[in-house]
Amino acid sequence: MKRLLSEVYLHLIAGVIALGILGISAHTLWMDRLGTWQEAEKSSRNVLTTIVRDLDSNLELLDLSLKGAMEGLRHLGFHQLSPDLQYRMLFDRVASANFMAALLLVDRNGNLIADAGPMIASRSLNVSDREYFTAHKNAHHLGLYVTRPYRSRAPHGEFSIGISRRLSDADGGFAGVVMGSIALNTINQRFEHLSLGQQGAINLFRGDGVLLTRYPFDANQINQDLGGSPHVQRLLKDKSGTFDSVSPIDGVHRIISFGRLEKYPLVLTVALSVDDVFAAWERKALVLSLVTLVLCCAVVGLTFLFQRELKRRTRAETKLRRIARTDDLTGLPNRRAFRETFEREWRQAVRSGSALSLLSIDADYFKSFNDRYGHGRGDEVLRAIAGTLNGSIRRPRDIATRYGGEEFAVILPETDLTGAIRIADSIRQTINAMAIVHEGSPYHIVTASIGVASAQPSRASERSALLEAADQALYRAKAAGRNAISGPGEDASLPRASLPHAAA
Ligand code: GH3
Ligand code: MG
Ligand code: MG
Repeated sequence: MKRLLSEVYLHLIAGVIALGILGISAHTLWMDRLGTWQEAEKSSRNVLTTIVRDLDSNLELLDLSLKGAMEGLRHLGFHQLSPDLQYRMLFDRVASANFMAALLLVDRNGNLIADAGPMIASRSLNVSDREYFTAHKNAHHLGLYVTRPYRSRAPHGEFSIGISRRLSDADGGFAGVVMGSIALNTINQRFEHLSLGQQGAINLFRGDGVLLTRYPFDANQINQDLGGSPHVQRLLKDKSGTFDSVSPIDGVHRIISFGRLEKYPLVLTVALSVDDVFAAWERKALVLSLVTLVLCCAVVGLTFLFQRELKRRTRAETKLRRIARTDDLTGLPNRRAFRETFEREWRQAVRSGSALSLLSIDADYFKSFNDRYGHGRGDEVLRAIAGTLNGSIRRPRDIATRYGGEEFAVILPETDLTGAIRIADSIRQTINAMAIVHEGSPYHIVTASIGVASAQPSRASERSALLEAADQALYRAKAAGRNAISGPGEDASLPRASLPHAAA
């Protein structure tokens, strides 16, 4: 029971330690994951803020060029100026706008009035079919309009977007459009040196959800109207924010920061791939999980080893204890076991107020037996006597022991003198009945003498008195001629056996 309990405790402690290790590493990993996530959100916001500021200021410079051209055109006497001065008046501010690829002024019919930029458009250019032209023509208060991406008609045809404003005449009627174009390359270059990981992405949307450009650039993706996607609707609704979502463009799960430009109807997103962000964390998690697993296995393994060792020791101790209390020759409990049992039964008898009896048994003429038949044969006889003792006691608590030499002692708990005498006599008779020839004995067979003593132990009584009494009784049985039993007192000499035939 005690051992079972200690095993339960052992497993409990091992379980607690293993769970503790698991808990600590799970907690560490979880906190680390949260930290990594927050760090990614922060860095995507930082990148976003930087780009938004840059775009805002560059678009403003371009817008100033548009406004400058509009002012120049409105200037009284503009039309009287030489073409050279007209050009200067219109495109005075253009040089400072480094976003600008080209700037066009068209009249109410879409015919080119003037242009500036690296490549001069053909004089016969008409833009009346262009999206921005019709948009301004149809709406009075559009303000600044951003075009969809388009391929310029120039030979190498790179992608551009335009920002445009309406020209009005003196009474507010539609008088044409001024449009500045920006090569998408100019914008894309700004995204290239940012470290966004392998699957990081930047998207620039028009206010209605049309994708203007993106990094990494993909000509097939731009110019799509994604205003219907819930993902993009979310960007267009709020001014700025951060969330994670699976991209409708390439299906990658990303942490996305988005923000609207201050003055222009554009929305920018900076997205870091969750896989990229957690790549390092996952490696760490793998290592930590393996270490944790190994530690837990070690705890469990050690527990089992410890338990096995404990069992082995307990078994060895039990065996040693048994050996220490057993007589080698006969297999009976030895004198040490006799003393322990006698102590225990004495205390038990005191508690329960029951009788306790003792038999002291000694083989007769045994020295002479050894002399005559040899020590080896003597040993055999001692074993035979031990066997008869064990055969004569019945109750579980009765115990026969080898006291030493050719002497034995039997403890009979809860047995009174009458009962003890009966058992003693049965032992004596059984030994007789074995009829082991012993020519050195007057009985011609091996016999034994038995002293019987009984007591009603109490706290006041001495236990040694009972031992003494059994000894005394044995002495009397010997004195009475051996092969006899003797109880307390001098008259107690008792049934001497009739000589068995074998003795004859
Ligand atoms: P008594 O009838 O008075 O008991 O005479 P006894 O010869 O039996 O008594 P004594 O005490 O003189 O001798 C005991 C003998 O028991 C001495 C010894 O040879 C023998 N003996 C004691 N232990 C052993 C043993 O382990 N094996 C054998 N074979 N003989 C033993
Ligand atoms: Mg003796
Ligand atoms: Mg003897």
